[in-house]
Amino acid sequence: MQIGFIGLGNMGAPMAANLAKAGHQILGFDTTGVTVEGVTQVETASDAVAGADAVITMLPNGAILRAVADQVIPAMSKGAVLIDCSTVDVDSARAVADQAMGAGLLSVDAPVSGGIGGAAAGTLTFMAGGSEAAFAKAAPLFEIMGQKAVHCGEAGAGQAAKICNNMILGVTMIATCEAFALADKLGLDRQKMFDVVSTSSGYSWTMNAYCPAPGVGPQSPADNDYTPGFAAELMLKDLRLSQQAADSADADTPMGQVATSLYEQFVENEDGLGRDFSAMLPRFEKRGRE
Ligand code: NAD
Repeated sequence: MQIGFIGLGNMGAPMAANLAKAGHQILGFDTTGVTVEGVTQVETASDAVAGADAVITMLPNGAILRAVADQVIPAMSKGAVLIDCSTVDVDSARAVADQAMGAGLLSVDAPVSGGIGGAAAGTLTFMAGGSEAAFAKAAPLFEIMGQKAVHCGEAGAGQAAKICNNMILGVTMIATCEAFALADKLGLDRQKMFDVVSTSSGYSWTMNAYCPAPGVGPQSPADNDYTPGFAAELMLKDLRLSQQAADSADADTPMGQVATSLYEQFVENEDGLGRDFSAMLPRFEKRGRE
C-alpha cells in the first residue's frame, strides 16, 4: 500500500518504521523535521496523503487532529481509509469521521495501548471504531503495528474504549498506591502485602503487572526511580478526556473525577510532571490524614 503518515513523534515514528519494514511505501509528515528509517519525508500534510490508499495520523490532541483533517481530507483519494491512532476526545473523533465519510472516504478511530515499547516492537493493541469496511481495510496495517485489534463499534467507539480503560487504570493505580501507603503505616511488609493482594480479590494490573512499590513484583518503573513508563501527565490527559466524555454523555463518574483531580494536583502543583504515573506511591507515603 501507499501510506501517508502524519505525526512522527515518540509513537508515530516507530509505527511508521514498522510499516516501511513490512514493505509498504510511506510518505511521512511532521511539523518538526524528523528522520524515520524507510519513510520518505514530504513538505506538507497534503503531499503525504495524495494518492495514498491509507492515511494514518498520530497527533497530540483533538484540536490538532481536526486541523490536520481539514487539510488532508480534501486531498485524499475516494475510497482511501483515514486511520487516526491518536488519543483524542470522542467528539473530535466522531466529527472527523463524519467529515471523512462525507468526502467518500473510509474512517477509523484506532487509539492504542502499549506505549513506546509496544510501538517499537509492533505489539500495540488497537481499539477501533468505524464501519466493517473501514476496519477491514485498516486491519492488515494493525497486524503489522500491533498484536491485537478489537473492532469496538461505530465511529468514536475506539476512543470510548480507550478512555474507559484508562479511567479504570488511573483509579486503580491510586487505590493500589494508597493501600500500600496505609499498609506501611500499619507496619505491614510490602512484599507480604503484594503476596496477599496479588492472589486475592484486590488484585489488578496495577498491582500484579506494574507494581508501584520498588523491589516488589515484576520489574516496573518503580524499580527505575519512577522514570516513565507511562508519564503522570499522559495519565492526566486521558483522565481529563474521560471526564469531558462523561460531561457530554451525562454519566456519573465520581471515582474518575477524584482521580482526575489527584493527578492534576500531582502534575501541576507537586513533583509529578515527567515521573511515571505510579509515583503516586511516594506521594501518598509522605502524607498524613490531612
Ligand atoms: P509526541 O508529542 O511524541 O508526537 C506527536 C507528534 O505530532 C510530534 O512529533 C509533533 O511534532 C507532531 N505534530 C503536532 N502537530 C502536527 C501537525 N499539525 N502536523 C503534523 N505533525 C504534527 O506524542 P506521542 O507520545 O507520539 O503520542 C501521540 C499520541 O498517542 C497522543 O495522542 C498520545 O496520547 C497517544 N499515546 C501515547 C502513548 C505514549 O506512551 N507515548 C501511549 C498511547 C497513546
